[in-house]
Amino acid sequence: MYNILRERDREVNWHPYTQMKGATDIIPIVRGQGAYLYDNEGKRYIDAVSSWWVTLHGHAHPHIAQRVSDQLHTLEQVIFAGFTHEPAVQLSENLLKLLPANQQKVFYTDNGSTAVEVALKMCIQYHVNRGTPKSKILAFRNAYHGDTFGAMSVSARGAWTAPFGDMLFDVVFIDTPTVDNLESLIQKVDLHADELACFIYEPLIQGAAGMLMHHPEDLSRLMAYCRHKGVLMIQDEIFVGFGRTGKLFAADYLSEYPDIMCFSKGLTGGTMPLGVTTCSDVVYQAFYSDDKRQALYHGHSFTASPLACAAALASMELLLKAETTARIARIVAKHRAFKEEITSWPKVKDVRQRGTIIAIEWNHMESTSYFSKLGEVLYPFFLERGILLRPLGNIIYLVPPYCISDCDLDYIYVTIKEALKLL
Ligand SMILES: *Cc1c(COP(=O)(O)O)cnc(C)c1O
Repeated sequence: MYNILRERDREVNWHPYTQMKGATDIIPIVRGQGAYLYDNEGKRYIDAVSSWWVTLHGHAHPHIAQRVSDQLHTLEQVIFAGFTHEPAVQLSENLLKLLPANQQKVFYTDNGSTAVEVALKMCIQYHVNRGTPKSKILAFRNAYHGDTFGAMSVSARGAWTAPFGDMLFDVVFIDTPTVDNLESLIQKVDLHADELACFIYEPLIQGAAGMLMHHPEDLSRLMAYCRHKGVLMIQDEIFVGFGRTGKLFAADYLSEYPDIMCFSKGLTGGTMPLGVTTCSDVVYQAFYSDDKRQALYHGHSFTASPLACAAALASMELLLKAETTARIARIVAKHRAFKEEITSWPKVKDVRQRGTIIAIEWNHMESTSYFSKLGEVLYPFFLERGILLRPLGNIIYLVPPYCISDCDLDYIYVTIKEALKLL
């Protein structure tokens, strides 16, 4: 059917992660409510990926909308150098109370990649300020930390980063920890320890890599060794934070504290762009000096946007309600039962789950790369059936908003089983 909004979009817009040639199926969305998105022909989609992992409490949540609207009428924006405001102070106070006790200071930006850039710059300059410059960074294979140059450098290298290959800085990549490989990982940390500025990692779940998972005990052991060797740790909770893992933060599973943490995505309940980098007092003190050159010279026009901070405050109020905790627990239990049910199906290569996140890997001849054909079949299969899923190659995953109903979850499970039979 002729769709005017889609045609106008094609004339002027260039979409993320999209080969625009052949991208004729871009869907105009006019409205969102709860777990649903509605297109301009009235079709309803269950947003099973929380619109790129950001939406927590559902679309157009009235509580968040009200608080942002109130803020918009009070103070919409103010320069955050030399000035401050209640929403930023309150949000930092509230957030720090929930984080590991060593997290003492909050640095605001406006997305996940910039939260990572700030974390990396904090680590590099920390060593410079202390007179012992170090610039090597340790990261996991298959990592994803964002799309700006620093964040790209510490992420897995592949087709996406290939054109920029020579411009990315050197990183020591290690496998994620298991009981079996821990010794060899520790040897690798040892080998580079004197040159390592920091270790950056996605705790428990490597989202963009296909929801790859590792165990908290193994990560804690690796962290303990990094601590022992004086390697600063950046814990990227941009995806896993705010309840996705079944606990508020991945940190709540770990026995070791990171030095620095990064947040975005669910921070505002997925309503406004906001990034946060928190750090320990040890990191902060390395910049706290009579020498102006030891300051962190980083900032963005919209640093600590009062509107985004208001949205985050409202979202965190909702998140801490007993009702939300119960909703999360319900999703966890339902995912677990579904996992049990399909684990031994012939087409199922692997089912992974942590908290509200579940991934099903197809046993399929094609490669598991982002570009593989199966994903191209699965995506429209679910869309036709009113479900928004974005397969990563042979892997489909659910990251639903917490407000999703049992009925909608069951419908998604049934549809996945249908796909497993047909495709
Ligand atoms: C999405 C993501 C980022 C990047 O955040 P953006 O806001 O998309 O720049 C960084 N790290 C992880 C783990 C992510 O999932």
